[in-house]
Amino acid sequence: MASHTDLVQQPLPFNGTLGVYVGNGDSLHISHVGNSSIHLGTKSLSLNDILVVPQLKENLVSIAKLTKDNNCVFACFPWGYVIKDLATGVILLKGPVKDNLYPIPAHALSTSLRKFSCNNATFVAHTTKAAPCSTWHRRLGHPGSKILQQLATDKLICTSDKFSSMMFCDACQAGKSKHLPFHLSSRISTRVLELVHCDIWGPSPTVTTSGYPYYIIFVDDYNRYCWLYPMRRRSDSLACFTNFKNMGENQFNQRLQLFQCDGAKELVEGIFRSFLDANGISLRVSCPHTSQ
Ligand SMILES: [Zn+2]
Repeated sequence: MASHTDLVQQPLPFNGTLGVYVGNGDSLHISHVGNSSIHLGTKSLSLNDILVVPQLKENLVSIAKLTKDNNCVFACFPWGYVIKDLATGVILLKGPVKDNLYPIPAHALSTSLRKFSCNNATFVAHTTKAAPCSTWHRRLGHPGSKILQQLATDKLICTSDKFSSMMFCDACQAGKSKHLPFHLSSRISTRVLELVHCDIWGPSPTVTTSGYPYYIIFVDDYNRYCWLYPMRRRSDSLACFTNFKNMGENQFNQRLQLFQCDGAKELVEGIFRSFLDANGISLRVSCPHTSQ
């Protein structure tokens, strides 16, 4: 028995004279009759001939009808209940006991039933209380706003406030960020070639058409201009740097003063280091994992 036609599929008006008799002898009017089902993964339990009785406060399932229509056994225990297939003995559904009733879990109900359980909170015992969007976001393991909105649209969750795609969550910000934001540097370059940042990238999974798997990049700290040189080997770094230094110093009529890199061996050791020292260029190595 159900209290609303939303709970049944294709409800047909009931024109008979029969009613549902309750404890105090009153007869409750039956408005419609229809069917529904309880989903169990690949199988489902049929709920046939559901009587729609608008005056009902709770929706009730007849155990006799359920077991007969589905050839199953309904076993009650102090902790809950189990529905087993009579032919195979396979457990079809397990549920708890609550307030001396055996509620059917919401996930087992068909979509129309779930919708109703959310709106009315009375279907066979599953209740869902309205909560703010932010609470649902935390309860469901911090899903994205699209997922949350879809759940709200499908009436699978009841939200007490208006949905906002710009909802801010501290935990998400911290959890989905790779690292904390960097503070702005107070150091400002006053001229071209005062400080040059350098990095080597590669090997590339796809070699260029000219056969270069690496590149070295030089970034001027003053105006952020970038110079990029393709390389066949990492050991070509010094030749590229020499080209860049000669070109830059000649074009801008300024001496390169500071050279900053991430500590790559080719840039801080051997002949590269000797070249920097010989030309009076100071080497600065940035802290690990702080490319900014
Ligand atoms: Zn979050």
